Amino acid sequence: METPRTELNELGEFGLIERIKTASTLRNTTSLRGIGDDAAVIKKDEKNVFLVSTDTLAEGIHFDLTYVPLKHLGYKAVVVNLSDIVAMNGTPEQITVALACSNRFSVEAIEELYQGILLACDHYNVDLVGGDTTTSRAGLILSITALGTAEADKVVYRSGARTNDIVCVSGDLGGAYMGLQVLEREKQSFLANPEMQPELEGLDYIVQRQLKPEARVDMVKELATLGILPTSMIDISDGLASEILHLCSSSGKGAELFEDKFPIDQMTYETAREFDLDPLTVMMNGGEDYELLFTIKQEDFEKIKNHPSINPIGYMKEAAAGVNLITKAGNSFPIKAQGWKHF
Ligand code: ADP
Ligand code: MG
Repeated sequence: METPRTELNELGEFGLIERIKTASTLRNTTSLRGIGDDAAVIKKDEKNVFLVSTDTLAEGIHFDLTYVPLKHLGYKAVVVNLSDIVAMNGTPEQITVALACSNRFSVEAIEELYQGILLACDHYNVDLVGGDTTTSRAGLILSITALGTAEADKVVYRSGARTNDIVCVSGDLGGAYMGLQVLEREKQSFLANPEMQPELEGLDYIVQRQLKPEARVDMVKELATLGILPTSMIDISDGLASEILHLCSSSGKGAELFEDKFPIDQMTYETAREFDLDPLTVMMNGGEDYELLFTIKQEDFEKIKNHPSINPIGYMKEAAAGVNLITKAGNSFPIKAQGWKHF
């Protein structure tokens, strides 16, 4: 009998991860949390845990070297990993870097990549402690593992949100996606006419959001200072829509989010309009902002209500209510994930 063949795109990225999770079992009592959150949680001692997370960036899928300088790529690759440690309310401390590259790259090019990696290590007070180097037939693949620590009772999971908790998002959304649109446009005009100089003037904020994002380590500290322990948290790598759905399904809850509360920067808004894109779609599905989406108890609202970079955007509901967006016009729509389709 022929073995059945299931196409990867039938299952999708999350379906595939779910299958891997079902097939694996945790054997050691030190493995406190395995697959299914932003980072795994490993027992360190009675009071503390280690956090571990891996993310891979592949050329042609996650980045385009025509407009991404290698130094920026190195920096961003570290940031996206640290962001997952931050999303557990932890402090990143070490990284390892696995590199697969073809001989298209020179030693100087790889050195430039490492300048970015080391700059991020310096900025975030993280140590590069190992890795692996190998060849690839096509393109560059960069896989980073980040390690961090947290006090065991301060770890925040995707699964802790309760009905009536307030949903908050840090910073603003959609900037990284609009930065990417601008860089893509400049690439196209460069390909059409190599004499063209890139027109990026006045667009530095969104270009920076795309090329040099930051992990919100500061927000973990800020929440602690405010005396808030979020009930659940996830970082926004794929877009608000995808992440709120993860948070709701992990917590077994629904949610109601209000469009008029979504934070957007003026430049993101104007550029979206210029590109004929709906700013709402850009915020919901753009991704790569690496902001934090988290829930807090109602009683903590006073502590954040005037905070410049913590934005309450909705409430958690019972699962039966679904996950809905209330538009500016007052209509309710179920939120669907678009995010990035890998397969
Ligand atoms: P994030 O976007 O926060 O990096 P992912 O969606 O990549 O999270 O991963 C979700 C969960 O699935 C994480 O716990 C991650 O460790 C796990 N995971 C992803 N890919 C694999 C894999 N190939 N094998 C085992 N676990 C995986
Ligand atoms: Mg994450």
